Amino acid sequence: MKLYNSLTRKKEEFIPRFPGKVSMYTCGPTVYHYAHIGNLRSYIMEDVLEKYMRFSGLDVKRVMNITDVGHLTSDGDTGDDKMLKGAKREHKTVMEIAKFYTDAFFEDCKKLNIKTPDVIEPATGCIDEFIKVIEGLIEKGYAYEAGGNIYFDTSKLEKYYVFNDFKEEDLAVGVREGVTEDANKKNKADFVLWFTKSKFDDQELKWNSPWGIGYPGWHIECSCISMKNLGEYLDIHCGGIDNAFPHHTNEIAQSEAYLGHEWCRYWFHVHHLNTNSGKMSKSKGEFLTVSLLESKGYDPIVYRFFCLNSHYRKSLVFSYENLDNAAASFNKLVSRISAILKEKQGEVDKESFDTLKASFCEAMDNDINTSLALTALYDVLKAQTTAATKIALINEFDKVLSLDLVKKAEQLKSENNEEDIPDEIMELVEKRAVARREKNFSLADSLRDEIAEKGYIIEETRQGTRIRKK
Ligand code: AMP
Ligand code: ZN
Repeated sequence: MKLYNSLTRKKEEFIPRFPGKVSMYTCGPTVYHYAHIGNLRSYIMEDVLEKYMRFSGLDVKRVMNITDVGHLTSDGDTGDDKMLKGAKREHKTVMEIAKFYTDAFFEDCKKLNIKTPDVIEPATGCIDEFIKVIEGLIEKGYAYEAGGNIYFDTSKLEKYYVFNDFKEEDLAVGVREGVTEDANKKNKADFVLWFTKSKFDDQELKWNSPWGIGYPGWHIECSCISMKNLGEYLDIHCGGIDNAFPHHTNEIAQSEAYLGHEWCRYWFHVHHLNTNSGKMSKSKGEFLTVSLLESKGYDPIVYRFFCLNSHYRKSLVFSYENLDNAAASFNKLVSRISAILKEKQGEVDKESFDTLKASFCEAMDNDINTSLALTALYDVLKAQTTAATKIALINEFDKVLSLDLVKKAEQLKSENNEEDIPDEIMELVEKRAVARREKNFSLADSLRDEIAEKGYIIEETRQGTRIRKK
């Protein structure tokens, strides 16, 4: 399998350190608010990666942290504490906020068929681990105390900007309006490992440490949680592209300084989901959630399908129009599979099974090209082979795609146990969806009447639009 590795900026053959076994780490959510559908794009694409590795016979152990402490609104060491901000907004304790939004996150994941990682570790459960690693970094001369806080000294590294060739002077810290540079830092890029003195005097969660009562910085948690559960070598680390700098850069700095050797070989970064008005931001408070999509009548799996239609290394623009198009294609796909279910099934033809599966694998092996993998799925629908072969292949691909294709097609088949919906009707249904989206309700109504005249009824359900014969 070839994967683009952000560290080398090349597509490379993925070779785990120990044959057949993969250690995989994912930056988990900061649980001060609901995950937005942008965050979830990253988790969907990482889920596909994990499932495809398993599909290829690799034994994956996947670990995810939950950031429930010390994550600031800026990625540097500036800004407000997000958890504290969430607690104040909702008049709850930080731990109540963390519990509520952790549960909400995993509920969203479930709706999107995202598998739960093998290990989930909240940062607040690993404080001893953080202290141990920070002590080790001080001992090795990579960390220093200044103004009460412990900082990582980036000048001790041979190469700090591993993902990009940033220049120190280009760093935004201290330049942005309203952000004052931390005068304790020896170098601009240095970052906090442990806070004891900061502007967050009302910090709710604090722990004893050799440097006084305080709390950890954000970056240290991922290094420690990964080392604790996956050992000294990590095969692949995942996250959204915004995490590459400074978060992942700092993770590499402190992990390799601590371990004294290379830590993680492959870095998988998912590019952003944007709206027409720009980047979606959790901290700005205005964002789209899975529940919002559901309340508008969309099946969350349609959002997963929408994500799979484009490559994870391209930014993706969300609009309701794009989602409607995805919903229409998805419904059509399900109804085509439902038609295959109604055919005489026959036997699975091993030869065509293998050939068609090979083109799915070829797409996925080429840097998880999910849109080409979907093309391979459409090729199955049209293939000259038995219905049994097609259904077996769809089930096979769905181990990775997780779109519940056959399950949804079965449902449709039992709801609509008559003949197929003719293309002519499907076209009218799609025209009506466009009219509704454009709020042209009189056109939508007349299209409904036309469909009714032709003997079909349209129903709006939580799963989307359903059509059945009168
Ligand atoms: P957070 O909860 O803010 O720590 O983010 C959780 C994950 O979502 C991280 O891997 C981020 O890099 C990723 N992420 C944040 N915003 C977006 C976005 N607009 N599109 C895709 N992924 C994102
Ligand atoms: Zn992380």
